[in-house]
Amino acid sequence: MLVQDRKASLRNLPAVHHVLSSYVARDNLDPAEYEDAVKLIQGLIAQARENLLQGKQQEQDKERWNDEICSDLKKIIGQRKRRPFRRVLNGTGIILHTNLGRAPLAEEAIEAIVSLASSYSNLEFDLATGQRGKRYDHVRGLLRELTGAEDAIVVNNNAAAVLLVLTALASKKEVVLSRGELVEIGGSFRIPDVMAQSGAIMIEVGTTNKTKLKDYQNALTDETALILKVHPSNYKIIGFTASVSREELVALARQKNIPVVEDLGSGVFISQASQDDFFGEPTVQKVVASGVDVVTFSGDKLLGGPQGGIIVGKKEWIAEIEQHPLTRALRVDKLTLVALEETLKLYIHPEKAKQRIPALCLLYRSLEDIEKRAQAVMKELKKLDESWSIELVPGTSQVGGGTLPEMELPTWLIQFRSKDISTQELADVLRSLEIPVIGRLRDQAFCIDMRTIREREEKDLCRSLQEAFQILNSHEQK
Ligand SMILES: *Cc1c(COP(=O)(O)O)cnc(C)c1O
Repeated sequence: MLVQDRKASLRNLPAVHHVLSSYVARDNLDPAEYEDAVKLIQGLIAQARENLLQGKQQEQDKERWNDEICSDLKKIIGQRKRRPFRRVLNGTGIILHTNLGRAPLAEEAIEAIVSLASSYSNLEFDLATGQRGKRYDHVRGLLRELTGAEDAIVVNNNAAAVLLVLTALASKKEVVLSRGELVEIGGSFRIPDVMAQSGAIMIEVGTTNKTKLKDYQNALTDETALILKVHPSNYKIIGFTASVSREELVALARQKNIPVVEDLGSGVFISQASQDDFFGEPTVQKVVASGVDVVTFSGDKLLGGPQGGIIVGKKEWIAEIEQHPLTRALRVDKLTLVALEETLKLYIHPEKAKQRIPALCLLYRSLEDIEKRAQAVMKELKKLDESWSIELVPGTSQVGGGTLPEMELPTWLIQFRSKDISTQELADVLRSLEIPVIGRLRDQAFCIDMRTIREREEKDLCRSLQEAFQILNSHEQK
Protein backbone atom coordinates (compact mmCIF):
# COMPACT_ATOMS: atom_id res chain seq x y z
CA MET A 1 0.00 0.00 0.00
CA LEU A 2 1.22 3.47 -0.79
CA VAL A 3 1.94 5.89 2.02
CA GLN A 4 -0.90 8.14 0.91
CA ASP A 5 -3.32 5.21 0.95
CA ARG A 6 -2.18 4.22 4.40
CA LYS A 7 -2.80 7.75 5.61
CA ALA A 8 -6.20 7.69 3.97
CA SER A 9 -7.09 4.46 5.75
CA LEU A 10 -6.82 6.29 9.10
CA ARG A 11 -10.12 7.98 8.23
CA ASN A 12 -12.00 4.88 9.25
CA LEU A 13 -10.65 4.78 12.80
CA PRO A 14 -13.58 5.50 15.13
CA ALA A 15 -13.76 8.47 17.48
CA VAL A 16 -13.13 7.84 21.18
CA HIS A 17 -16.64 8.88 22.27
CA HIS A 18 -18.13 6.59 19.63
CA VAL A 19 -16.28 3.54 20.98
CA LEU A 20 -17.17 4.46 24.54
CA SER A 21 -20.86 4.83 23.85
CA SER A 22 -21.10 1.58 21.95
CA TYR A 23 -19.13 -0.20 24.70
CA VAL A 24 -21.44 1.21 27.35
CA ALA A 25 -24.51 0.18 25.33
CA ARG A 26 -23.30 -3.41 25.05
CA ASP A 27 -21.28 -4.15 28.12
CA ASN A 28 -22.42 -1.78 30.80
CA LEU A 29 -19.83 0.35 32.51
CA ASP A 30 -19.97 2.20 35.78
CA PRO A 31 -19.79 5.96 35.00
CA ALA A 32 -16.98 6.14 37.57
CA GLU A 33 -14.95 4.00 35.18
CA TYR A 34 -15.45 6.19 32.07
CA GLU A 35 -12.36 8.28 32.60
CA ASP A 36 -10.12 5.25 32.74
CA ALA A 37 -11.95 3.67 29.77
CA VAL A 38 -11.35 6.79 27.69
CA LYS A 39 -7.61 6.54 28.34
CA LEU A 40 -7.62 2.89 27.38
CA ILE A 41 -9.58 3.61 24.17
CA GLN A 42 -7.19 6.41 23.26
CA GLY A 43 -4.33 3.99 23.68
CA LEU A 44 -6.02 1.33 21.56
CA ILE A 45 -6.81 3.81 18.79
CA ALA A 46 -3.25 5.13 18.84
CA GLN A 47 -1.98 1.57 18.55
CA ALA A 48 -4.34 0.90 15.61
CA ARG A 49 -3.17 4.09 13.91
CA GLU A 50 0.45 3.04 14.34
CA ASN A 51 -0.29 -0.41 12.93
CA LEU A 52 -2.05 1.07 9.90
CA LEU A 53 0.77 3.49 9.19
CA GLN A 54 3.34 0.73 9.41
CA GLY A 55 1.27 -1.49 7.19
CA LYS A 56 0.93 -4.09 9.95
CA GLN A 57 -2.82 -4.01 9.76
CA GLN A 58 -5.30 -3.94 6.89
CA GLU A 59 -7.74 -1.16 6.26
CA GLN A 60 -11.26 -1.91 7.46
CA ASP A 61 -14.55 -0.06 7.80
CA LYS A 62 -15.60 2.03 10.78
CA GLU A 63 -17.90 -0.60 12.28
CA ARG A 64 -15.27 -3.33 12.17
CA TRP A 65 -12.78 -1.02 13.88
CA ASN A 66 -15.31 -0.11 16.48
CA ASP A 67 -16.05 -3.77 17.23
CA GLU A 68 -12.41 -4.66 17.38
CA ILE A 69 -11.50 -1.86 19.78
CA CYS A 70 -14.54 -2.61 21.95
CA SER A 71 -13.54 -6.23 22.23
CA ASP A 72 -9.92 -5.34 23.09
CA LEU A 73 -11.22 -2.94 25.70
CA LYS A 74 -13.39 -5.66 27.18
CA LYS A 75 -10.39 -7.94 27.52
CA ILE A 76 -8.33 -5.28 29.26
CA ILE A 77 -11.13 -4.33 31.63
CA GLY A 78 -11.80 -7.99 32.37
CA GLN A 79 -8.15 -8.64 33.14
CA ARG A 80 -7.97 -5.67 35.45
CA LYS A 81 -10.95 -6.92 37.41
CA ARG A 82 -9.32 -10.25 38.00
CA ARG A 83 -7.77 -10.28 41.44
CA PRO A 84 -4.02 -10.80 41.36
CA PHE A 85 -4.34 -12.33 44.83
CA ARG A 86 -7.19 -14.80 44.62
CA ARG A 87 -8.47 -18.15 45.74
CA VAL A 88 -7.02 -21.29 44.21
CA LEU A 89 -7.97 -24.96 44.31
CA ASN A 90 -5.44 -26.94 46.30
CA GLY A 91 -4.91 -30.26 44.56
CA THR A 92 -1.52 -30.82 46.17
CA GLY A 93 -2.88 -32.85 49.08
CA ILE A 94 -0.82 -30.72 51.47
CA ILE A 95 -3.36 -29.59 54.04
CA LEU A 96 -1.39 -26.69 55.57
CA HIS A 97 0.38 -25.52 52.43
CA THR A 98 2.21 -22.34 53.49
CA ASN A 99 2.44 -21.00 49.92
CA LEU A 100 -1.29 -21.56 49.45
CA GLY A 101 -2.24 -19.69 52.61
CA ARG A 102 -2.18 -22.54 55.15
CA ALA A 103 -5.49 -23.15 56.94
CA PRO A 104 -8.84 -22.30 55.31
CA LEU A 105 -11.09 -20.81 57.97
CA ALA A 106 -14.20 -22.28 59.58
CA GLU A 107 -17.54 -20.78 58.53
CA GLU A 108 -17.98 -19.37 62.03
CA ALA A 109 -14.74 -17.40 61.67
CA ILE A 110 -15.66 -16.16 58.20
CA GLU A 111 -19.07 -14.92 59.31
CA ALA A 112 -17.47 -13.10 62.21
CA ILE A 113 -14.95 -11.41 59.90
CA VAL A 114 -17.66 -10.26 57.52
CA SER A 115 -19.82 -8.87 60.28
CA LEU A 116 -16.98 -7.10 62.05
CA ALA A 117 -15.26 -5.76 58.93
CA SER A 118 -18.23 -3.69 57.88
CA SER A 119 -18.76 -1.85 61.14
CA TYR A 120 -17.16 -0.40 64.24
CA SER A 121 -16.37 -2.71 67.11
CA ASN A 122 -15.32 -2.79 70.76
CA LEU A 123 -11.77 -3.69 69.74
CA GLU A 124 -10.18 -1.56 72.45
CA PHE A 125 -13.26 -0.41 74.26
CA ASP A 126 -14.62 -1.92 77.45
CA LEU A 127 -18.38 -2.14 77.01
CA ALA A 128 -18.93 -2.69 80.75
CA THR A 129 -17.25 0.52 81.91
CA GLY A 130 -17.20 2.65 78.76
CA GLN A 131 -13.46 3.03 79.27
CA ARG A 132 -10.57 2.12 77.05
CA GLY A 133 -10.08 -1.65 76.84
CA LYS A 134 -7.38 -3.99 75.59
CA ARG A 135 -7.55 -5.71 72.23
CA TYR A 136 -6.14 -8.90 73.73
CA ASP A 137 -8.83 -9.25 76.37
CA HIS A 138 -11.30 -10.82 73.95
CA VAL A 139 -9.24 -13.95 73.33
CA ARG A 140 -7.41 -14.00 76.63
CA GLY A 141 -10.23 -15.69 78.51
CA LEU A 142 -10.73 -18.35 75.86
CA LEU A 143 -7.04 -19.14 75.66
CA ARG A 144 -6.81 -19.45 79.42
CA GLU A 145 -9.79 -21.77 79.51
CA LEU A 146 -8.57 -23.95 76.65
CA THR A 147 -4.90 -24.23 77.57
CA GLY A 148 -5.00 -23.98 81.34
CA ALA A 149 -2.45 -21.15 81.20
CA GLU A 150 -2.70 -18.15 83.52
CA ASP A 151 -2.52 -15.56 80.79
CA ALA A 152 -2.23 -15.10 77.03
CA ILE A 153 -1.51 -12.60 74.29
CA VAL A 154 -1.60 -12.84 70.50
CA VAL A 155 0.72 -11.26 67.91
CA ASN A 156 1.10 -11.30 64.14
CA ASN A 157 2.52 -14.81 63.72
CA ASN A 158 4.55 -17.36 65.62
CA ALA A 159 7.84 -16.02 64.27
CA ALA A 160 6.87 -12.66 65.79
CA ALA A 161 5.87 -14.41 69.00
CA VAL A 162 9.29 -16.04 69.39
CA LEU A 163 11.10 -12.80 68.54
CA LEU A 164 8.97 -10.86 71.01
CA VAL A 165 9.38 -13.33 73.86
CA LEU A 166 13.16 -13.44 73.43
CA THR A 167 13.43 -9.66 73.10
CA ALA A 168 11.21 -8.92 76.08
CA LEU A 169 12.63 -11.54 78.42
CA ALA A 170 16.22 -12.08 77.33
CA SER A 171 17.69 -9.09 75.49
CA LYS A 172 21.40 -8.73 76.35
CA LYS A 173 21.17 -11.83 78.50
CA GLU A 174 21.84 -15.49 77.87
CA VAL A 175 19.45 -18.05 76.45
CA VAL A 176 20.34 -21.70 76.81
CA LEU A 177 19.20 -24.19 74.21
CA SER A 178 20.13 -27.57 72.81
CA ARG A 179 22.19 -27.88 69.63
CA GLY A 180 19.60 -30.39 68.46
CA GLU A 181 17.03 -27.59 68.33
CA LEU A 182 18.99 -24.99 66.36
CA VAL A 183 16.67 -25.41 63.43
CA GLU A 184 15.47 -23.59 60.35
CA ILE A 185 11.71 -23.88 59.98
CA GLY A 186 11.40 -22.59 56.42
CA GLY A 187 10.49 -19.21 55.06
CA SER A 188 13.80 -17.98 56.54
CA PHE A 189 12.89 -18.54 60.17
CA ARG A 190 16.17 -19.69 61.71
CA ILE A 191 16.58 -19.89 65.44
CA PRO A 192 20.13 -18.42 65.57
CA ASP A 193 19.01 -15.45 63.42
CA VAL A 194 15.92 -14.79 65.52
CA MET A 195 18.07 -15.02 68.61
CA ALA A 196 20.57 -12.49 67.20
CA GLN A 197 17.73 -10.15 66.23
CA SER A 198 16.32 -10.26 69.74
CA GLY A 199 19.64 -9.21 71.24
CA ALA A 200 19.83 -12.37 73.33
CA ILE A 201 23.11 -14.24 73.63
CA MET A 202 22.71 -17.81 72.48
CA ILE A 203 24.34 -20.47 74.63
CA GLU A 204 24.30 -23.75 72.76
CA VAL A 205 24.52 -26.92 74.81
CA GLY A 206 24.87 -30.63 74.09
CA THR A 207 25.33 -32.04 70.61
CA THR A 208 23.15 -32.39 67.55
CA ASN A 209 21.83 -35.81 68.59
CA LYS A 210 22.27 -35.86 72.37
CA THR A 211 21.67 -33.24 75.00
CA LYS A 212 21.61 -34.13 78.70
CA LEU A 213 20.37 -32.37 81.79
CA LYS A 214 23.95 -31.85 82.88
CA ASP A 215 24.64 -29.87 79.71
CA TYR A 216 21.93 -27.40 80.64
CA GLN A 217 23.02 -27.36 84.27
CA ASN A 218 26.60 -26.47 83.42
CA ALA A 219 25.51 -23.64 81.13
CA LEU A 220 23.37 -21.74 83.63
CA THR A 221 24.97 -18.58 84.99
CA ASP A 222 23.78 -15.37 86.63
CA GLU A 223 23.41 -14.02 83.12
CA THR A 224 20.94 -16.71 82.01
CA ALA A 225 17.54 -15.20 81.24
CA LEU A 226 15.73 -18.35 80.20
CA ILE A 227 15.93 -21.90 78.87
CA LEU A 228 14.49 -22.25 75.36
CA LYS A 229 12.99 -25.37 73.86
CA VAL A 230 12.17 -25.40 70.15
CA HIS A 231 10.04 -27.88 68.26
CA PRO A 232 12.17 -29.15 65.37
CA SER A 233 8.99 -29.26 63.19
CA ASN A 234 10.03 -30.47 59.75
CA TYR A 235 13.20 -32.13 60.98
CA LYS A 236 13.79 -35.22 63.06
CA ILE A 237 16.83 -36.77 64.64
CA ILE A 238 16.58 -40.52 64.88
CA GLY A 239 18.84 -43.27 66.15
CA PHE A 240 21.34 -42.57 68.92
CA THR A 241 19.58 -39.64 70.56
CA ALA A 242 18.80 -38.11 73.91
CA SER A 243 16.96 -35.02 75.00
CA VAL A 244 15.80 -33.63 78.31
CA SER A 245 12.14 -33.79 79.31
CA ARG A 246 10.10 -30.65 79.93
CA GLU A 247 9.63 -31.60 83.56
CA GLU A 248 13.37 -31.86 84.13
CA LEU A 249 14.02 -28.53 82.43
CA VAL A 250 11.29 -26.87 84.48
CA ALA A 251 12.72 -28.26 87.73
CA LEU A 252 16.18 -27.01 86.78
CA ALA A 253 14.93 -23.54 85.83
CA ARG A 254 13.01 -23.24 89.13
CA GLN A 255 16.28 -23.52 91.05
CA LYS A 256 17.51 -20.42 89.25
CA ASN A 257 14.18 -18.62 89.18
CA ILE A 258 14.20 -18.34 85.41
CA PRO A 259 11.48 -19.36 82.96
CA VAL A 260 11.40 -22.19 80.44
CA VAL A 261 10.09 -20.99 77.09
CA GLU A 262 8.90 -23.41 74.43
CA ASP A 263 8.33 -22.63 70.75
CA LEU A 264 5.85 -25.36 69.98
CA GLY A 265 5.39 -24.50 66.29
CA SER A 266 2.07 -25.97 65.31
CA GLY A 267 0.27 -26.22 68.62
CA VAL A 268 -2.74 -28.53 68.92
CA PHE A 269 -5.59 -28.49 71.38
CA ILE A 270 -7.20 -31.82 70.63
CA SER A 271 -5.87 -35.25 71.40
CA GLN A 272 -6.65 -38.58 69.89
CA ALA A 273 -9.09 -40.76 71.77
CA SER A 274 -7.56 -42.44 74.84
CA GLN A 275 -4.29 -40.55 74.51
CA ASP A 276 -3.17 -37.18 75.65
CA ASP A 277 -1.25 -36.38 72.50
CA PHE A 278 -2.03 -35.82 68.86
CA PHE A 279 -0.21 -38.34 66.67
CA GLY A 280 2.80 -38.03 68.93
CA GLU A 281 2.56 -34.25 69.30
CA PRO A 282 1.91 -32.95 72.81
CA THR A 283 -1.16 -30.76 73.14
CA VAL A 284 -0.69 -27.18 74.30
CA GLN A 285 -2.56 -28.11 77.50
CA LYS A 286 -0.04 -30.84 78.20
CA VAL A 287 2.92 -28.52 77.67
CA VAL A 288 1.37 -25.89 79.94
CA ALA A 289 0.59 -28.53 82.57
CA SER A 290 4.21 -29.72 82.53
CA GLY A 291 5.15 -26.35 84.02
CA VAL A 292 6.65 -24.64 80.96
CA ASP A 293 6.37 -20.92 81.71
CA VAL A 294 5.79 -19.49 78.24
CA VAL A 295 4.53 -21.40 75.18
CA THR A 296 4.26 -20.00 71.66
CA PHE A 297 2.47 -21.50 68.63
CA SER A 298 0.89 -20.59 65.29
CA GLY A 299 -2.74 -19.71 64.72
CA ASP A 300 -2.84 -21.11 61.19
CA LYS A 301 -1.11 -24.45 61.47
CA LEU A 302 -2.94 -27.38 63.08
CA LEU A 303 -5.08 -25.00 65.08
CA GLY A 304 -6.78 -24.18 61.78
CA GLY A 305 -7.37 -20.49 62.42
CA PRO A 306 -6.03 -17.22 60.97
CA GLN A 307 -2.35 -16.32 60.86
CA GLY A 308 -1.28 -15.43 64.35
CA GLY A 309 1.30 -16.07 67.02
CA ILE A 310 -0.24 -17.18 70.28
CA ILE A 311 1.71 -16.75 73.50
CA VAL A 312 0.36 -18.39 76.65
CA GLY A 313 1.94 -18.75 80.04
CA LYS A 314 2.49 -17.49 83.55
CA LYS A 315 1.03 -14.10 84.39
CA GLU A 316 4.28 -12.39 85.37
CA TRP A 317 6.01 -13.25 82.08
CA ILE A 318 3.06 -12.45 79.86
CA ALA A 319 2.75 -9.07 81.64
CA GLU A 320 6.40 -8.34 80.93
CA ILE A 321 5.97 -9.33 77.29
CA GLU A 322 2.82 -7.26 76.92
CA GLN A 323 4.55 -4.14 78.20
CA HIS A 324 7.41 -4.38 75.73
CA PRO A 325 7.24 -1.77 72.93
CA LEU A 326 7.70 -4.45 70.29
CA THR A 327 4.25 -5.84 71.18
CA ARG A 328 2.68 -2.75 69.65
CA ALA A 329 4.65 -3.21 66.45
CA LEU A 330 3.63 -6.85 66.17
CA ARG A 331 0.01 -6.45 67.13
CA VAL A 332 -2.76 -8.33 65.35
CA ASP A 333 -5.61 -6.64 63.59
CA LYS A 334 -9.28 -6.89 64.49
CA LEU A 335 -10.18 -9.31 61.69
CA THR A 336 -7.53 -11.77 62.81
CA LEU A 337 -8.64 -11.48 66.40
CA VAL A 338 -12.29 -12.12 65.70
CA ALA A 339 -11.47 -15.08 63.42
CA LEU A 340 -9.17 -16.53 66.05
CA GLU A 341 -11.78 -16.06 68.74
CA GLU A 342 -14.41 -17.92 66.72
CA THR A 343 -11.96 -20.71 65.89
CA LEU A 344 -11.02 -21.05 69.55
CA LYS A 345 -14.67 -21.16 70.58
CA LEU A 346 -15.09 -24.31 68.49
CA TYR A 347 -12.45 -26.03 70.63
CA ILE A 348 -14.62 -25.77 73.72
CA HIS A 349 -16.26 -28.88 72.25
CA PRO A 350 -13.45 -30.81 70.56
CA GLU A 351 -15.89 -32.85 68.45
CA LYS A 352 -17.26 -29.62 67.06
CA ALA A 353 -13.74 -28.45 66.25
CA LYS A 354 -13.17 -31.62 64.24
CA GLN A 355 -16.39 -31.12 62.31
CA ARG A 356 -16.13 -27.39 61.70
CA ILE A 357 -12.45 -26.50 61.27
CA PRO A 358 -11.45 -27.26 57.66
CA ALA A 359 -7.82 -28.19 58.43
CA LEU A 360 -9.00 -30.82 60.92
CA CYS A 361 -11.82 -32.04 58.64
CA LEU A 362 -9.31 -32.57 55.83
CA LEU A 363 -6.91 -34.34 58.15
CA TYR A 364 -9.59 -36.67 59.49
CA ARG A 365 -11.25 -37.16 56.09
CA SER A 366 -11.85 -40.87 55.50
CA LEU A 367 -10.41 -42.66 52.49
CA GLU A 368 -13.93 -43.84 51.62
CA ASP A 369 -15.20 -40.29 51.51
CA ILE A 370 -12.28 -39.14 49.36
CA GLU A 371 -12.88 -42.03 46.98
CA LYS A 372 -16.59 -41.33 46.73
CA ARG A 373 -16.02 -37.66 45.89
CA ALA A 374 -13.20 -38.48 43.51
CA GLN A 375 -15.49 -40.92 41.65
CA ALA A 376 -18.13 -38.20 41.30
CA VAL A 377 -15.57 -35.80 39.84
CA MET A 378 -14.20 -38.52 37.54
CA LYS A 379 -17.67 -39.04 36.11
CA GLU A 380 -17.88 -35.37 35.17
CA LEU A 381 -14.38 -35.30 33.73
CA LYS A 382 -14.85 -38.33 31.52
CA LYS A 383 -17.56 -36.40 29.68
CA LEU A 384 -15.19 -33.53 29.02
CA ASP A 385 -12.29 -34.69 27.00
CA GLU A 386 -11.18 -37.70 25.04
CA SER A 387 -7.58 -36.71 24.54
CA TRP A 388 -6.58 -37.22 28.16
CA SER A 389 -6.32 -40.53 29.91
CA ILE A 390 -7.82 -39.86 33.33
CA GLU A 391 -7.43 -42.38 36.12
CA LEU A 392 -8.03 -42.66 39.81
CA VAL A 393 -4.90 -43.87 41.62
CA PRO A 394 -4.02 -44.28 45.31
CA GLY A 395 -1.47 -41.94 46.87
CA THR A 396 -0.55 -40.13 50.05
CA SER A 397 -1.30 -36.64 51.36
CA GLN A 398 0.69 -34.65 53.88
CA VAL A 399 -0.17 -32.31 56.71
CA GLY A 400 2.37 -29.64 55.68
CA GLY A 401 3.39 -26.41 57.40
CA GLY A 402 6.31 -28.27 58.95
CA THR A 403 3.77 -30.21 60.98
CA LEU A 404 3.81 -33.99 61.50
CA PRO A 405 6.34 -34.41 58.66
CA GLU A 406 6.31 -38.18 58.84
CA MET A 407 2.58 -38.61 58.75
CA GLU A 408 1.33 -40.12 55.51
CA LEU A 409 -2.38 -39.90 54.94
CA PRO A 410 -3.77 -42.33 52.37
CA THR A 411 -5.67 -40.62 49.58
CA TRP A 412 -6.96 -40.83 46.00
CA LEU A 413 -5.40 -38.89 43.15
CA ILE A 414 -6.96 -38.04 39.83
CA GLN A 415 -4.16 -38.62 37.39
CA PHE A 416 -3.96 -37.02 33.93
CA ARG A 417 -1.84 -38.25 31.05
CA SER A 418 -1.86 -37.35 27.37
CA LYS A 419 0.03 -38.56 24.35
CA ASP A 420 0.04 -35.17 22.69
CA ILE A 421 0.22 -32.61 25.46
CA SER A 422 2.86 -32.45 28.17
CA THR A 423 1.74 -32.57 31.80
CA GLN A 424 3.82 -29.45 32.41
CA GLU A 425 1.68 -27.62 29.88
CA LEU A 426 -1.48 -28.74 31.63
CA ALA A 427 -0.05 -27.59 34.97
CA ASP A 428 0.90 -24.19 33.49
CA VAL A 429 -2.51 -23.59 31.94
CA LEU A 430 -4.32 -24.65 35.12
CA ARG A 431 -2.35 -22.07 37.08
CA SER A 432 -3.30 -19.30 34.65
CA LEU A 433 -7.08 -19.56 35.04
CA GLU A 434 -9.55 -17.35 36.85
CA ILE A 435 -9.78 -20.12 39.47
CA PRO A 436 -6.33 -21.69 39.27
CA VAL A 437 -5.83 -25.36 40.11
CA ILE A 438 -2.56 -26.33 41.75
CA GLY A 439 -1.73 -30.02 41.48
CA ARG A 440 1.41 -32.07 41.57
CA LEU A 441 3.50 -33.93 39.05
CA ARG A 442 4.13 -37.58 39.79
CA ASP A 443 5.58 -40.27 37.52
CA GLN A 444 5.32 -37.84 34.62
CA ALA A 445 1.61 -37.45 35.17
CA PHE A 446 -0.33 -34.48 36.50
CA CYS A 447 -2.23 -35.34 39.67
CA ILE A 448 -4.92 -33.74 41.73
CA ASP A 449 -5.09 -35.01 45.29
CA MET A 450 -8.77 -35.12 46.17
CA ARG A 451 -8.18 -34.91 49.94
CA THR A 452 -7.68 -31.15 49.75
CA ILE A 453 -10.47 -30.46 47.26
CA ARG A 454 -13.57 -29.71 49.28
CA GLU A 455 -16.96 -30.87 48.10
CA ARG A 456 -18.16 -27.36 47.43
CA GLU A 457 -15.13 -26.77 45.19
CA GLU A 458 -15.79 -29.73 42.90
CA LYS A 459 -17.87 -27.77 40.39
CA ASP A 460 -15.16 -25.13 40.09
CA LEU A 461 -12.56 -27.86 39.69
CA CYS A 462 -14.46 -29.40 36.78
CA ARG A 463 -15.01 -25.99 35.21
CA SER A 464 -11.34 -25.02 35.47
CA LEU A 465 -10.28 -28.36 33.99
CA GLN A 466 -12.73 -27.94 31.14
CA GLU A 467 -11.38 -24.46 30.46
CA ALA A 468 -7.82 -25.78 30.51
CA PHE A 469 -8.65 -28.59 28.08
CA GLN A 470 -10.22 -26.08 25.70
CA ILE A 471 -7.19 -23.81 25.83
CA LEU A 472 -4.82 -26.74 25.28
CA ASN A 473 -6.89 -28.07 22.38
CA SER A 474 -6.85 -24.68 20.70
CA HIS A 475 -3.04 -24.57 21.11
CA GLU A 476 -2.90 -28.01 19.52
CA GLN A 477 -4.89 -26.93 16.51
CA LYS A 478 -2.66 -23.93 15.84
C1 LIG B 1 6.08 -22.72 61.88
C2 LIG B 1 6.99 -22.46 62.99
C3 LIG B 1 7.37 -21.16 63.33
C4 LIG B 1 6.88 -19.98 62.55
O1 LIG B 1 5.51 -19.79 62.75
P1 LIG B 1 4.69 -18.78 61.81
O2 LIG B 1 3.33 -18.76 62.40
O3 LIG B 1 4.76 -19.34 60.45
O4 LIG B 1 5.37 -17.45 61.91
C5 LIG B 1 8.20 -20.98 64.38
N1 LIG B 1 8.68 -22.02 65.10
C6 LIG B 1 8.33 -23.29 64.82
C7 LIG B 1 8.89 -24.40 65.65
C8 LIG B 1 7.48 -23.56 63.76
O5 LIG B 1 7.14 -24.82 63.45
